[in-house]
Formats: sequence, C-alpha cells, structure tokens
Amino acid sequence: MTAATLATQIRAGETTAVAAVERSLDGIKRLEAKLSAFNTVIAERALDRARSLDAAGASTGPLHGVPIAIKDNMCTVGVPTTASSKILAGFIPPYNATVVERLERAGAIIVGKTNLDEFAMGSSTENSALGPSKNPWDVTRTPGGSSGGSAAAVAARLVPLAFGSDTGGSIRQPAGLCGIVGFKPTYGRVSRYGLLAFASSLDQIGPFATTVDDAALAFSVIGGFDSHDSTSAPEAMPDLATALSGNVKGLRIGVPRAFLGEGVDDAILKAFESALATLAARGATPVDIDLPHAPYGIPVYYLICTAEASSNLARYDGVRYGLRTKLEKDDSLLQMYERTRDQGFGPEVKRRIMLGTYVLSAGYYDAYYLKAQQVRTLLLQDYQRAFEHVDVVATPTTPTPAFKLGEKTSDPVQMYLNDIFTVSANLTGLPSISVPCGFSSTRLPIGFQLTGRAFDEATLLRAADTFQRDTTFHTENPPFAEATGGKPRD
Ligand code: GLN
Repeated sequence: MTAATLATQIRAGETTAVAAVERSLDGIKRLEAKLSAFNTVIAERALDRARSLDAAGASTGPLHGVPIAIKDNMCTVGVPTTASSKILAGFIPPYNATVVERLERAGAIIVGKTNLDEFAMGSSTENSALGPSKNPWDVTRTPGGSSGGSAAAVAARLVPLAFGSDTGGSIRQPAGLCGIVGFKPTYGRVSRYGLLAFASSLDQIGPFATTVDDAALAFSVIGGFDSHDSTSAPEAMPDLATALSGNVKGLRIGVPRAFLGEGVDDAILKAFESALATLAARGATPVDIDLPHAPYGIPVYYLICTAEASSNLARYDGVRYGLRTKLEKDDSLLQMYERTRDQGFGPEVKRRIMLGTYVLSAGYYDAYYLKAQQVRTLLLQDYQRAFEHVDVVATPTTPTPAFKLGEKTSDPVQMYLNDIFTVSANLTGLPSISVPCGFSSTRLPIGFQLTGRAFDEATLLRAADTFQRDTTFHTENPPFAEATGGKPRD
C-alpha cells in the first residue's frame, strides 16, 4: 500500500495507525535477518506514538499514521544516530533533524534507523561498520549505497516511505538497484539541519517510495525554507497537488548520447530506450544533447567530496561526543585524538580524509581542488545550455544492475565508477529522480534517471509520474518482500 492510500484509510477509520505500525514491525521481524536494513528498530516508541495518534482521533497531517524509516545519519532525539560508524558509539542526539521534525509533525511514525555506508561514503553499504544490507531482489547482491538500508526497507515493503541523503547518488542509485523511486530535490530545498555532514555543498535529503506520487507527497512535507540551515533556499515550494497531471505533451527530453555508451550494460541501454519510447508515446520528444564535461564528473566529485569530508569529519575527535578510546598511561591529547580516530573510522572514511586533506594542502590546492571547482562550473554551464532547449535530461541511473556483495570491495575505483550518471546532479545542485524502468535477464531491477531545472521539481515529478502511469515495474514485489511472505520464488 502506498503512503497516500494508507494515510487516507487511517483518516477514514478503515484501519489504524497501530495496525499499520504493527504490520511494519512484523515484517521487519520476519525479514530483517535476511536484509540487515535497520541499525535500530524503535518498536515501543513507534507503537506508543501510534496509540496516541489513534487516541487523538483527528488527523495530524498528510502522513497521519504512516510508518517510515530514516537513514541513520539524521538526528533523532533520544534514538542513537551512528552514521554506521564506530566513532559515534554512544551518541544520542539531543535534537531532531528538521526533516524528522517535519515528518513527525505531518503524522509519520518512525519505526527505525536504516543502515548506510559509514558517513554515507560508498555505493553498496559494504562500508558500514555494522555490515552490509542485502538487496531484496537477490540477497547475495548489494542494495546499492549509501542509503542501502532505506532502499531495501521500501523495496521489501516494510515501510511505504523511507528517507536518505544523496551526495553523489546515494538515494537514486540504491533506488535504481532495488526497483523503487528515489528522489533528490534541488540543493537547498530540503534542510540539512541535523544531517551528519559528509560534503556540505553536495548533500541533499530526499525520499524513497514505490510511486512518484508518494515521493512528491513526502517532498511536500520535508521541503521548504528552514532558518536552521544557512544554505536553505527561500524559493517557494511548487504546487505538487496540480503538478502530477499526467500530461507530458510537448515536453522535451534531453538525451546525452555521447555520454551513454561505454561500460553500460546492454540490458540497461535497452530498458533506457524503451523508457524514452514510453514517454514519447505520451507526446514527449527526445532530443539529443551534449554534456561535454559530464565524463569528468567522477574525478571532480571525488576531489570535492573528499575535501569537504576531511573538513567536516575533523569534529570527531573523542572530546565532545561519541567514541573515546581508552587512554594509555602518559597519553598526550594528540595521542588521544589519534587513537580515537584510528579505531573509530573505517578504511574508506580514512582514505577519504587523507585524500581530502591532500587536495586541500598548500601546493596541491590549485592543481586539484581549485581545478575541480572550475570544472564543476563548466558542468553546470553544460546543463544550463541544455536546459535552453530541453525540460529534463534522461540517462540510466547506474551502468549495471546490482552487483554481488564483495565484488567491488577490493577496488575503490571500480566502486566509484558506479556513480558516473548520478554525480552530475549533485555537482550542479539540480533535482534528479530514479524510477523503475525494467529488469535484467536475471530479474534485477533497472532505474531510469531524469534530471530537471533548478527548483523545477514540478516538471521533473510530472514526467516521472507520467512514466509510472504507463508502466508496472514499480508494482512488482521482490522475492524477499513482506508482500510475498519473505520467501524467494523458485
Ligand atoms: N557513492 C558516492 C560516494 O561514495 C555517493 C555517496 C552519497 O551520495 N552519499 O561518495
């Protein structure tokens, strides 16, 4: 059931918030051992909240009684928030992220915090200090990352909505690999207050859902200006009630052909072409465009995100919160920092802190960091030029379907290459969405990515929603899902 339908049924008295939360918790109980989607499940707290919503009777808001899951890098009062890192052991936030605050005000009920790559650095959740999450379509494969737990939870139908953060693709990529919708709004649209920072100029929070309609609903709840975030955008939110009209007549879809070929699976390219044809049949027009700087996206992204991460993660020093390792006799303050950071951070986080520190250091700053920022501007200009002629830009979400757990862990560069189609939207700040558009020959989901003009989420969501009206990929349940009883098909 979608979040919209569930909230409507609860409001109409056809079911209750308690029943909805119980169903979600039952599913988690049955499937969690197979999926490892959650870091923390807050059953009692969720049930308490459901009981008080039911007792109050009146609807609290558009997500009244809907169970949701939150990526474990967003602060939740009284509930451990770990970023799947040892360095945050024992940290219990004294405040809520703005997103959490707004979701609860709208009536949503958090059932748990979901697994991620440590500090959201990764594309498979294998960098989590708590171990990887599994893909509900095939539990020997990754659900993608870094918001893999959130994607797995929605794909397995454990919750209708979950939330993630997307710095270089961490919402869209796992959504694509798990056969669900993942939406990254325009940079600045959703407050980052209470999101544990990875790369502040790229980070953006957004929803996972089974339908674009639900993603739009979630966006309407979490989006909009917040004075707690200095990069929060003052632009008015679009009217999403009228945006999803199903009409794409005259919509122009830019297709960066030169950027699509190399290293992309045949099944992905085939599904991509047929997705374009589906929208064309509704009156949209695919148009070839050129994004000459898009191929530089990966190196630019991995210079900028590591630079920002090295600065953001300097705060984890064992002094104020989280882990502090046991001091040895005569340890200096510096040794305490070193010991704590050495034991608290995992290998990928250390790699990025070192890389980022290096590219920001005197002598290398101009050659790497500054150069990357310049190419970032050129990439933005590519998109601005394209948007003079087209309304959205289409690409696959990922070059391949979900890969096997362990397949890419020994080769970070291979892992980074997964992000080829997703990093551009973060470097440019543009809104971007992945919707299910097919399956590989072994029934692994494939994602179709659309990217829109800054702050024009309305057009983007309209195009994606129209696509879903004519396709049924999003209605198929994976073998390891609550709806199938959690049993794989033969
Ligand atoms: N896979 C990318 C990385 O490892 C993106 C992660 C993200 O969006 N948080 O940095």
